[in-house]
Amino acid sequence: MQKHTNIIGGQRIPPASGKYYAIRNPARPGERLAEFADSNEADVRSAVGAAAEAAPAWAETPGPHRGVLLFRLAQLLEDSKEALGRIVTLEQGKSLAESIGEVGRAAAEARFMAGEASRPLGHTFPSERPGASCFTVAEPLGVVATICPWNFPVVTPVRKIAPALAWGNAVVFKPASLTPWSALHLLDLIDRAGIPPGAVNLVTGAGSVVGEALTHDARVNGVSFTGSSRVGSHLAEAASRRLARVQLELGGKNPAVVVDCRDLDAAAREIVGAAFLCSGQRCTAISRVIVAEAEADSLVDRILYHVDRIKVGDGLQTGTTMGPLVSDVQLRTVQGYVRQGQESGCEVLRGGRTLTDDPQREGYYFAPTVFDRVPAESPLAVEEIFGPVLPILRVRDFDEAVRVANATRYGLAASLFTSRPAYMHEFARRVSAGMIHINHGTASQAHVPFGGVKDSGQGAYSIGHTAREFYTNVKAIYVKW
Ligand code: NDP
Repeated sequence: MQKHTNIIGGQRIPPASGKYYAIRNPARPGERLAEFADSNEADVRSAVGAAAEAAPAWAETPGPHRGVLLFRLAQLLEDSKEALGRIVTLEQGKSLAESIGEVGRAAAEARFMAGEASRPLGHTFPSERPGASCFTVAEPLGVVATICPWNFPVVTPVRKIAPALAWGNAVVFKPASLTPWSALHLLDLIDRAGIPPGAVNLVTGAGSVVGEALTHDARVNGVSFTGSSRVGSHLAEAASRRLARVQLELGGKNPAVVVDCRDLDAAAREIVGAAFLCSGQRCTAISRVIVAEAEADSLVDRILYHVDRIKVGDGLQTGTTMGPLVSDVQLRTVQGYVRQGQESGCEVLRGGRTLTDDPQREGYYFAPTVFDRVPAESPLAVEEIFGPVLPILRVRDFDEAVRVANATRYGLAASLFTSRPAYMHEFARRVSAGMIHINHGTASQAHVPFGGVKDSGQGAYSIGHTAREFYTNVKAIYVKW
């Protein structure tokens, strides 16, 4: 079995503990894929040291030149879609088509950020004094830690590393324990793009050790985190004690509201796509449908039509449209929510069970599940399940739909399917979410700000120009000539 080390200062460095851990294919958990460094605080200290050493020269590298290297990285990602996509499917489980799509999207985000490296960095101001001027520049934050989840093992790291590099920062990257293999390949592409050693360092291992050490290291000026709201708020508290900046992309309980909608076919198609991609393990997945009673039966029929066409299987098999869940833990979490829903009397229209007798050997497969007539206060309706489970909530009218849409602690994305223009504007104004989608699912784009409100996030939105707020410090400069 191949053993993979950390990558620190451009070198393959074994973990200080000498220990490694194995990752498994969620489609066949008996299959060990490779071993990765089980790192500790000493590894974090050397990775942060390497980043701190590389940071000044990288910050001095002219922005347009940094951009050239990032354009190269984007092209390398584009060219590795198949190979890297295969690795994503092997360690994460999603269908190969989704994995290839993810790498393509990472290329698009890297390309946008490559351009950012050449764009204006500040403003000029008229001075209150004659013969003088004032202007601002954006300077790199310094060393940035990026702590990433397992659901998008390529695009989430690229979404953090590309802007960090574009604006002149050095990075220590900690991937999720379940998906370090994609991370390793990404580091290889970063190296092949010509980005200098030490500008990006990789440390694998447990979040409770590596993530904690990164968060507490005084040389780390900012932590960009994507994952659960629980860990995100814990991390923000620790970082804020030493006044380090944080960017948090957290959970969601994203509603699809359907009221006065003439095209229920299109609505159902969009909802099912956004609910079950990546087996529902997406922060922006549609994870509840809130539909007016008058059109609920017609919508439900159409939703079931599309759910029945989902082909669950090994992500590498041709024709698979939904892979297994990522891990045993995730499978048990989903089972727990579904059992609770069944016991509390919610109506199961489809699924509600694992698809293998022995998930530990045959894969963490869970059937696409649809619940109907779910009460608005049920855990199914308000908690982030992160699995292929779609609860349907029936309401009287648009006003009740908006009230229910806002009745969770999350505020990431929200969709509305309607034919009434007034509702479109009302929804965008009244629903608390970072991203509003009208008549389409919750898919984001590679250049548009991405983030959430309430427990869904904190700090600058990622993707697009808003990421600069996190990755740079503003300096105001006054000149008298
Ligand atoms: P976590 O929030 O635990 O993990 C996300 C990342 O944080 C991983 O790299 C993890 O490392 C790391 N981490 C864990 N503990 C710490 C810590 N104390 N300090 C710093 N970093 C830490 O998510 P899980 O993977 O456990 O998933 C649990 C739930 O979180 C899911 O069911 C889902 O609801 C939500 N989630 C949301 C995501 C999103 O996109 N918003 C993505 C993933 C999960 P390690 O992998 O080593 O534990």
